[in-house]
Amino acid sequence: MKNCIFCKIAKGETSAEVIYKDDKFIAFKDVNPKAPIHFLIIPKKHIPSVNHLKTRDKKLIGELFLVAQKIARKQGVAKSGYKLVFNVGKGGGQLINHLHLHLLGGWTSPTHHPTIKERDIPGMP
Ligand code: AMP
Ligand code: ZN
Repeated sequence: MKNCIFCKIAKGETSAEVIYKDDKFIAFKDVNPKAPIHFLIIPKKHIPSVNHLKTRDKKLIGELFLVAQKIARKQGVAKSGYKLVFNVGKGGGQLINHLHLHLLGGWTSPTHHPTIKERDIPGMP
């Protein structure tokens, strides 16, 4: 898709800190990270958002989650845990209209986590 920044990254026309690529996907560091580890995983194929997925994309989306799992393992957050997030549409906070899965993690303690406080964790005083 012309004028799509993530298509340009996928084609190597715009630079990004690429951490993973294969024939269908590419993952790179978010330029404005919201967590100690923040990657974006995108299909090379231009799909604007989750709202635009078709039945024919079923396999691709399944594979996208397996890529996320692989990246989490390689980047050392599989055990500590991480978040996978799709923002969908304007109201969902989606700014770039090329499907992307946010992988966020690397918080060193529960109190650094944006949504979990120690008091929410069973067993903690
Ligand atoms: P979203 O709000 O879900 O559309 O997320 C878009 C994300 O893309 C934001 O977290 C941005 O910081 C990130 N972003 C925008 N442009 C770039 C870029 N050229 N390289 C890396 N990340 C980007
Ligand atoms: Zn695109």
